[in-house]
Amino acid sequence: MADYNVIVIGAGPAGYVAAIRCAQLGLKTACVDKWVTLDGNPSLGGTCLNVGCIPSKALLDSSHHYDFMQKQAAAHGIQCDNLSIDIAAMQARKAKIITMLTTGIASLFKKNKVAHLFGTAHLAGDKQVEITAQDGNKQTLTADNIIIATGSVPVQIPVAPIDDHLIVNSTGALAFDSVPKRLGVIGAGAIGLELGSVWNRLGSQVTILEALPNFLQMADRKIAAATLREMKKQGFKIHLGANVTSATVANEEVTVTYEDKKGSQQLVVDKLIVAVGRKPNTESLGAAELGIQITDRGFIQVDDHCRTAVPSIYAIGDVIGGPMLAHKGSEEGIVVAELIAGQKSEMSYETIPYVIYTSPEVAWVGKTEEQLKLAGVEYKVGQFPFMASGRARAHGDTSGMVRILADAQTDRLLGVHILGISASELIAEAVVAMAFESSAEDLAKTIHAHPTLSEAVHEAALGVDGRMIHA
Ligand code: FAD
Ligand code: AMP
Repeated sequence: MADYNVIVIGAGPAGYVAAIRCAQLGLKTACVDKWVTLDGNPSLGGTCLNVGCIPSKALLDSSHHYDFMQKQAAAHGIQCDNLSIDIAAMQARKAKIITMLTTGIASLFKKNKVAHLFGTAHLAGDKQVEITAQDGNKQTLTADNIIIATGSVPVQIPVAPIDDHLIVNSTGALAFDSVPKRLGVIGAGAIGLELGSVWNRLGSQVTILEALPNFLQMADRKIAAATLREMKKQGFKIHLGANVTSATVANEEVTVTYEDKKGSQQLVVDKLIVAVGRKPNTESLGAAELGIQITDRGFIQVDDHCRTAVPSIYAIGDVIGGPMLAHKGSEEGIVVAELIAGQKSEMSYETIPYVIYTSPEVAWVGKTEEQLKLAGVEYKVGQFPFMASGRARAHGDTSGMVRILADAQTDRLLGVHILGISASELIAEAVVAMAFESSAEDLAKTIHAHPTLSEAVHEAALGVDGRMIHA
């Protein structure tokens, strides 16, 4: 008999959720993770909880409050003379949130009887995992099934080598102990824009260099253009079509050289964040040696049920590619656990929401207009500006809009795109509607509370049929 029914490798949002679901289904489960905090303690939750989703949102919220106090409080009649910022306190708050959540996962493991094994895992066979502890001790455990959830790490580019002092990756950018006066960011993806937003709000002059000619290539074009306008209004300098060719450090400054259509340009900054994407983490895992296929970009290749080429081994989360989002990995974890337990379970890749936590937030689900045009699908559009929303006015933030795309013949929802305050929350309604294959009319017929931001979704749904009330 094997030591475990399931061993999960990696305790990020993909792995820890898979492990808990396996245990709920009566499978004897262990979850191995090697993550250590700066003070050497094991920590569950992977990238997301330790250096990703959660710490970035903690700093985004703190910096939002500071920005509000500086720029908007007076309009509410709130005076705040001598406003100041204590970065150490802000970072301590962030650290406390991380600790509460990571120890929370340890409690969930205990409650669900998931064995937490600390160390680096290596696939020693199709049903064997060798775990190397911090002191070098090794143990080999057997399992009927193995789930690989080893996640991803930041991409490094040789033209801008990380020194963890002046040139940092996302992890370094979450840990600055003071506000850099001039901050450069390479890469205008979600991570670059969010971390740039934190430090912009706290006073940095932020310059973003992006190699692609289009801003937010994956998003709806109108939403992307409006986001770019909003960010420029906030003081961001954003250079598109700017390919960084070198970054050199001297006299506590970084000189960044980039090529754009005008030729070679230079930017001098106090700190540089390299946010050029993330790559799958399969280092020393031994997957290829077992016959597991690896794609040319290093992702573990799986079928549409997260099965690798080895029948007892599944893979989920960032390590298999697709949208590198925590909730995508978590859902794959649930699906795989249910499959291992003998249930029928499917992933709905079409209704994964995307969110960028800029100000205002960007969120979408489903297809963009460009994708629909390319596929030759006829569609109708309903668009409602937050300018016409009573609740957005009361909030004092009326930027952005809701755009709904529906099939011209069937009225079925094909895509919902939001730029605006709380877009990250508003998108959930669209995800549910799309998951239930609703029409724009279904949303239009649904009563939305007044006054709420969600009324903008309702109005955009009415707009699909040309009958918005407030715009
Ligand atoms: P990970 O979270 O990377 O976890 C993998 C785990 O496996 C790690 O703990 C690692 O130590 C462990 N591991 C790896 N190899 C081994 C081994 N051989 N043995 C033992 N353990 C191993 N996503 C969102 O959805 N929303 C956001 O707002 C968001 N914000 C982000 C902000 C930042 C700054 C960053 C960097 C990322 C953000 N992401 C966000 C992305 C999100 O963090 C990832 O998509 C998510 O963490 C992937 O989950 P995972 O479980 O696949 O892998
Ligand atoms: P994402 O993968 O969404 O996090 O985004 C990373 C962004 O970094 C992509 O839009 C890339 O085009 C951009 N990028 C990658 N390498 C460079 C480079 N050398 N100079 C400027 N931008 C880059």
